Amino acid sequence: MIASDAPSGARLTSDDAVALYRRPLFDLAGDAFEARAARTDAAVVTYLIDRNVNYSNVCNVGCAFCGFYRTRRQDDAYTLSFEEISVKLRELEAVGGTRVLMQGGVNPYLPFEWYLDLLSYLGTNHPTIRVEAFSPEEIKGMTKLTGMTSTEVLRELQAAGLDGLPGGGGEMLVDAVRHASHVSPARISTDEWLAIMADAQRLGLYTTATMVIGFGESPAQRVESLMRLRDAQDRALAEHGNGYSAFIAWTLQTKGVRIEGKAPGAGAFEYLQHVAVSRLVLDNVANVQASWPTMGYKVAQTALFAGANDFGSTMLEENVVSQAGATHRATPEREMVRQIVDAGFEPRQRDSLYNVIRTPDVAAMLAPPAAAAAPA
Ligand code: SF4
Repeated sequence: MIASDAPSGARLTSDDAVALYRRPLFDLAGDAFEARAARTDAAVVTYLIDRNVNYSNVCNVGCAFCGFYRTRRQDDAYTLSFEEISVKLRELEAVGGTRVLMQGGVNPYLPFEWYLDLLSYLGTNHPTIRVEAFSPEEIKGMTKLTGMTSTEVLRELQAAGLDGLPGGGGEMLVDAVRHASHVSPARISTDEWLAIMADAQRLGLYTTATMVIGFGESPAQRVESLMRLRDAQDRALAEHGNGYSAFIAWTLQTKGVRIEGKAPGAGAFEYLQHVAVSRLVLDNVANVQASWPTMGYKVAQTALFAGANDFGSTMLEENVVSQAGATHRATPEREMVRQIVDAGFEPRQRDSLYNVIRTPDVAAMLAPPAAAAAPA
């Protein structure tokens, strides 16, 4: 495997990894598939039934790639009530969902108690739903609000019912890229993002890592970002065994947002190349997700042959990347299963910890309506 790029069994160096971007795509994808098969069942592709809830779109960070945020005074600024969030979770429960991914803007007008009360409310009213919420940027906002450290903030949120943190805001863990004037000068820094994730992992909270390509970064900067993650994962696994459960990459979405025309973005070829490089570099992260909401089903299916072992989640609702041009539409479980089967894999429903919890009845699920209705 990747014999031309690293000594057999050796870890990829940064130079090795940069060189991977020059390899023919299908050779690279083949090596990444081999690396995936060594870590996870090569015949199986997993998926999660979940939904996103974006509790508030008020934000004071102002990323140029974001079409979601509003200032407090804009007409369509909102903060959902606990009851409105609860209705969304009931819809999730009705389709067998197990996880809500809850993110909002960095809203300085919400007191810290609001978050604690929300978590308690959800724990009481929706005890079977895992709550993964508040990316490091939001946690940083809460530290400013309260004067507490991120560990203190996280400890209180965990006591109120928080199960994990989404990997939002990872983007590119290279400050020269993330803080560039055309991207987001006010964004949480790489060191802060990694430190808050490390705090969360130390407390036993679940975490994932995300990455966005297409800001105009070089292959060396993409690799630098991956190496920061690999190093952080090494430390987490050595210190307490709770590191990033999964890695998810997608391409910058630019439609109708301020960064449009100022960043090159990235197409399907670069995305697939990057999924494969990520799988090979992140040899200490077990799961790599394909991103159908940003790349579409066909490219996401192809990513399953380039190192991805998971098709992501049904996402009953998504309001962030879809407001910057992503082609997201809610995907019922049946469609997830169809995409996985059409790509030649066996689908398995998982929980957000990547435990397989169910094997769907593919024949019944994909039967044409008439056949499904016929008597046995
Ligand atoms: S990406 Fe997040 S932090 Fe940046 S403007 Fe949008 S909501 Fe705010």
